[in-house]
Amino acid sequence: MHRMERVRTAVAVCAHPDDLEYFCGGTIRAMADDGWHIGLVIATDGDRGTHDPAASSQLVASTRREEAMAAAWILGVSHVEFLGHEDGELSTAASLRAELTRIYRSMRPERLITFDPWKRYELHPDHREIGMAAIDARLFARLPHFHPEHLRDGLAPWTISEILLFNTDEPDYFVDVSRTIEAKLEALRAHTSQWEGIWPQTSGAVRAEAARMGALAGAAAAEGFKRLYVPLGPVSAGWSDANNGPTVGC
Ligand SMILES: [Zn+2]
Repeated sequence: MHRMERVRTAVAVCAHPDDLEYFCGGTIRAMADDGWHIGLVIATDGDRGTHDPAASSQLVASTRREEAMAAAWILGVSHVEFLGHEDGELSTAASLRAELTRIYRSMRPERLITFDPWKRYELHPDHREIGMAAIDARLFARLPHFHPEHLRDGLAPWTISEILLFNTDEPDYFVDVSRTIEAKLEALRAHTSQWEGIWPQTSGAVRAEAARMGALAGAAAAEGFKRLYVPLGPVSAGWSDANNGPTVGC
Protein backbone atom coordinates (compact mmCIF):
# COMPACT_ATOMS: atom_id res chain seq x y z
CA MET A 1 0.00 0.00 0.00
CA HIS A 2 1.28 3.46 -0.86
CA ARG A 3 1.61 6.06 1.79
CA MET A 4 0.04 9.37 0.77
CA GLU A 5 2.69 12.11 0.77
CA ARG A 6 1.52 15.65 1.27
CA VAL A 7 2.77 17.76 -1.62
CA ARG A 8 3.79 21.20 -0.47
CA THR A 9 2.86 23.93 -2.89
CA ALA A 10 4.37 27.38 -3.32
CA VAL A 11 3.66 30.27 -5.65
CA ALA A 12 6.37 32.72 -6.65
CA VAL A 13 5.13 36.06 -7.96
CA CYS A 14 7.64 38.11 -9.94
CA ALA A 15 7.60 41.18 -12.15
CA HIS A 16 10.04 40.18 -14.89
CA PRO A 17 11.22 37.01 -16.63
CA ASP A 18 14.59 36.86 -14.79
CA ASP A 19 13.57 38.00 -11.28
CA LEU A 20 13.10 34.55 -9.81
CA GLU A 21 16.51 33.29 -10.85
CA TYR A 22 18.33 36.42 -9.73
CA PHE A 23 16.73 36.86 -6.33
CA CYS A 24 15.96 33.34 -5.15
CA GLY A 25 16.94 30.76 -7.77
CA GLY A 26 18.98 28.72 -5.31
CA THR A 27 16.03 28.47 -2.93
CA ILE A 28 13.60 27.49 -5.67
CA ARG A 29 15.88 24.70 -6.84
CA ALA A 30 16.41 23.51 -3.24
CA MET A 31 12.64 23.47 -2.71
CA ALA A 32 12.07 21.56 -5.95
CA ASP A 33 14.72 19.03 -4.92
CA ASP A 34 12.84 18.71 -1.64
CA GLY A 35 9.58 17.85 -3.42
CA TRP A 36 7.80 21.19 -3.49
CA HIS A 37 5.37 21.90 -6.31
CA ILE A 38 6.24 25.44 -7.44
CA GLY A 39 4.15 27.72 -9.63
CA LEU A 40 5.77 30.84 -11.07
CA VAL A 41 3.80 33.94 -12.06
CA ILE A 42 5.62 36.46 -14.28
CA ALA A 43 3.53 39.60 -14.39
CA THR A 44 5.08 41.56 -17.28
CA ASP A 45 6.35 40.46 -20.66
CA GLY A 46 9.70 42.22 -20.06
CA ASP A 47 9.61 43.77 -23.52
CA ARG A 48 11.54 46.87 -22.44
CA GLY A 49 14.42 44.86 -21.00
CA THR A 50 17.00 45.85 -23.60
CA HIS A 51 19.54 48.63 -24.19
CA ASP A 52 19.06 48.38 -27.97
CA PRO A 53 16.84 51.25 -29.14
CA ALA A 54 16.22 49.48 -32.45
CA ALA A 55 15.05 46.22 -30.86
CA SER A 56 11.53 45.00 -31.65
CA SER A 57 9.44 44.88 -28.46
CA GLN A 58 7.64 41.81 -29.73
CA LEU A 59 10.90 39.97 -30.36
CA VAL A 60 12.32 40.98 -26.97
CA ALA A 61 9.17 39.69 -25.25
CA SER A 62 9.16 36.37 -27.10
CA THR A 63 12.90 35.86 -26.51
CA ARG A 64 12.49 36.56 -22.82
CA ARG A 65 9.56 34.18 -22.59
CA GLU A 66 11.66 31.37 -24.05
CA GLU A 67 14.53 32.21 -21.72
CA ALA A 68 12.17 32.16 -18.72
CA MET A 69 10.86 28.72 -19.67
CA ALA A 70 14.40 27.35 -20.05
CA ALA A 71 15.41 28.79 -16.67
CA ALA A 72 12.27 27.48 -14.96
CA TRP A 73 13.03 24.00 -16.24
CA ILE A 74 16.56 24.17 -14.78
CA LEU A 75 15.18 25.20 -11.38
CA GLY A 76 12.46 22.55 -11.29
CA VAL A 77 9.51 24.95 -11.46
CA SER A 78 6.35 22.98 -12.19
CA HIS A 79 4.27 25.62 -13.92
CA VAL A 80 4.82 29.11 -15.36
CA GLU A 81 2.04 31.63 -15.87
CA PHE A 82 2.71 34.77 -17.92
CA LEU A 83 0.26 37.58 -17.18
CA GLY A 84 1.59 39.73 -20.04
CA HIS A 85 1.32 43.15 -18.41
CA GLU A 86 3.25 46.04 -19.88
CA ASP A 87 6.86 46.19 -18.71
CA GLY A 88 7.39 49.10 -16.32
CA GLU A 89 3.68 49.81 -15.95
CA LEU A 90 2.63 47.41 -13.19
CA SER A 91 0.32 48.76 -10.54
CA THR A 92 -1.52 47.30 -7.61
CA ALA A 93 -4.70 48.02 -9.54
CA ALA A 94 -7.75 45.88 -8.93
CA SER A 95 -7.22 43.96 -12.16
CA LEU A 96 -3.79 42.63 -11.13
CA ARG A 97 -5.00 41.79 -7.63
CA ALA A 98 -7.96 39.93 -9.12
CA GLU A 99 -5.68 37.88 -11.36
CA LEU A 100 -3.45 36.91 -8.44
CA THR A 101 -6.42 36.18 -6.19
CA ARG A 102 -7.76 33.76 -8.78
CA ILE A 103 -4.35 32.08 -9.10
CA TYR A 104 -4.04 31.62 -5.32
CA ARG A 105 -7.53 30.13 -5.07
CA SER A 106 -6.77 27.85 -7.96
CA MET A 107 -3.25 26.72 -6.90
CA ARG A 108 -3.94 26.72 -3.13
CA PRO A 109 -0.30 27.26 -2.14
CA GLU A 110 0.88 27.30 1.47
CA ARG A 111 3.85 29.57 0.71
CA LEU A 112 4.03 32.84 -1.25
CA ILE A 113 7.41 34.07 -2.45
CA THR A 114 7.66 37.61 -3.78
CA PHE A 115 9.42 40.98 -3.62
CA ASP A 116 9.62 42.86 -0.34
CA PRO A 117 7.59 45.95 -1.30
CA TRP A 118 8.90 47.83 1.74
CA LYS A 119 12.56 47.61 0.74
CA ARG A 120 14.16 51.05 0.93
CA TYR A 121 15.52 52.61 -2.23
CA GLU A 122 14.21 49.95 -4.60
CA LEU A 123 14.52 51.73 -7.93
CA HIS A 124 12.33 49.57 -10.16
CA PRO A 125 8.65 50.49 -9.87
CA ASP A 126 7.52 47.03 -11.00
CA HIS A 127 9.41 45.42 -8.12
CA ARG A 128 7.63 47.62 -5.60
CA GLU A 129 4.22 47.16 -7.19
CA ILE A 130 4.26 43.40 -7.68
CA GLY A 131 5.26 42.75 -4.08
CA MET A 132 2.39 44.83 -2.78
CA ALA A 133 -0.15 43.36 -5.20
CA ALA A 134 0.94 39.82 -4.36
CA ILE A 135 0.55 40.46 -0.64
CA ASP A 136 -2.79 42.26 -1.05
CA ALA A 137 -4.16 39.40 -3.13
CA ARG A 138 -3.35 36.99 -0.29
CA LEU A 139 -5.89 38.79 1.86
CA PHE A 140 -8.46 38.89 -0.93
CA ALA A 141 -8.05 35.16 -1.61
CA ARG A 142 -9.12 34.18 1.89
CA LEU A 143 -12.35 36.21 2.05
CA PRO A 144 -15.38 35.09 0.02
CA HIS A 145 -16.76 38.55 -0.66
CA PHE A 146 -13.68 39.51 -2.63
CA HIS A 147 -14.28 38.31 -6.17
CA PRO A 148 -17.30 36.08 -5.48
CA GLU A 149 -17.30 35.23 -9.19
CA HIS A 150 -14.40 32.88 -8.42
CA LEU A 151 -16.62 30.92 -6.05
CA ARG A 152 -19.17 30.49 -8.80
CA ASP A 153 -16.33 29.05 -10.87
CA GLY A 154 -15.70 26.45 -8.16
CA LEU A 155 -12.70 28.22 -6.58
CA ALA A 156 -13.07 28.33 -2.80
CA PRO A 157 -11.41 30.93 -0.55
CA TRP A 158 -7.87 30.01 0.38
CA THR A 159 -5.38 31.20 3.00
CA ILE A 160 -1.65 31.29 2.36
CA SER A 161 0.01 30.89 5.74
CA GLU A 162 3.59 31.85 4.95
CA ILE A 163 5.19 34.66 2.95
CA LEU A 164 8.88 34.82 2.04
CA LEU A 165 9.97 38.23 0.81
CA PHE A 166 13.17 38.44 -1.22
CA ASN A 167 15.16 41.60 -2.05
CA THR A 168 14.67 42.66 1.54
CA ASP A 169 16.43 44.97 3.99
CA GLU A 170 15.59 42.72 6.92
CA PRO A 171 16.40 39.09 6.16
CA ASP A 172 15.50 36.78 9.03
CA TYR A 173 15.03 33.51 7.17
CA PHE A 174 17.86 31.90 5.24
CA VAL A 175 18.03 29.02 2.82
CA ASP A 176 21.34 27.20 2.39
CA VAL A 177 22.04 27.26 -1.35
CA SER A 178 25.54 25.79 -1.23
CA ARG A 179 24.35 22.82 -3.28
CA THR A 180 22.11 24.75 -5.65
CA ILE A 181 24.00 27.93 -6.46
CA GLU A 182 25.47 26.43 -9.62
CA ALA A 183 21.96 25.57 -10.83
CA LYS A 184 20.88 29.10 -9.94
CA LEU A 185 23.71 30.54 -12.05
CA GLU A 186 22.92 28.18 -14.91
CA ALA A 187 19.27 29.25 -14.82
CA LEU A 188 20.20 32.90 -14.59
CA ARG A 189 22.54 32.55 -17.53
CA ALA A 190 19.69 31.10 -19.57
CA HIS A 191 18.44 34.69 -19.78
CA THR A 192 21.08 35.22 -22.45
CA SER A 193 19.59 38.47 -23.75
CA GLN A 194 20.16 40.18 -20.42
CA TRP A 195 23.84 39.46 -19.88
CA GLU A 196 25.59 40.33 -23.08
CA GLY A 197 29.05 41.53 -22.04
CA ILE A 198 28.25 41.63 -18.32
CA TRP A 199 27.98 37.98 -17.30
CA PRO A 200 31.29 37.93 -15.36
CA GLN A 201 30.18 40.93 -13.27
CA THR A 202 26.67 39.53 -12.81
CA SER A 203 27.76 36.07 -11.75
CA GLY A 204 30.42 37.59 -9.48
CA ALA A 205 27.82 39.78 -7.79
CA VAL A 206 25.47 36.81 -7.32
CA ARG A 207 28.23 34.73 -5.71
CA ALA A 208 29.26 37.61 -3.46
CA GLU A 209 25.68 38.17 -2.26
CA ALA A 210 25.26 34.42 -1.60
CA ALA A 211 28.46 34.44 0.45
CA ARG A 212 27.30 37.52 2.38
CA MET A 213 23.97 35.86 3.23
CA GLY A 214 25.82 32.62 3.96
CA ALA A 215 27.93 34.40 6.57
CA LEU A 216 24.73 35.50 8.32
CA ALA A 217 23.25 32.01 8.17
CA GLY A 218 26.32 29.90 8.93
CA ALA A 219 26.48 28.38 5.45
CA ALA A 220 28.90 28.71 2.54
CA ALA A 221 26.13 30.27 0.43
CA ALA A 222 22.59 31.31 1.27
CA GLU A 223 19.64 33.40 0.15
CA GLY A 224 17.91 35.61 2.69
CA PHE A 225 14.24 36.47 3.08
CA LYS A 226 11.94 38.35 5.38
CA ARG A 227 9.50 35.72 6.60
CA LEU A 228 5.95 36.52 7.55
CA TYR A 229 4.08 33.68 9.13
CA VAL A 230 0.37 34.35 9.10
CA PRO A 231 -1.55 31.45 10.59
CA LEU A 232 -5.28 31.07 10.24
CA GLY A 233 -7.09 33.61 12.34
CA PRO A 234 -8.67 37.03 12.26
CA VAL A 235 -7.97 38.90 9.07
CA SER A 236 -6.54 41.84 10.98
CA ALA A 237 -4.25 39.70 13.15
CA GLY A 238 -1.24 40.56 11.03
CA TRP A 239 1.86 38.47 11.04
CA SER A 240 3.71 36.83 13.86
CA ASP A 241 7.44 36.47 13.79
CA ALA A 242 7.85 32.85 14.72
CA ASN A 243 11.60 33.07 14.25
CA ASN A 244 14.01 33.44 17.07
CA GLY A 245 17.18 34.60 15.38
CA PRO A 246 18.27 33.54 11.93
CA THR A 247 16.49 30.45 10.70
CA VAL A 248 17.78 28.14 8.04
CA GLY A 249 15.13 26.21 6.23
CA CYS A 250 13.71 25.36 2.88
ZN1 LIG B 1 12.84 42.67 -12.32
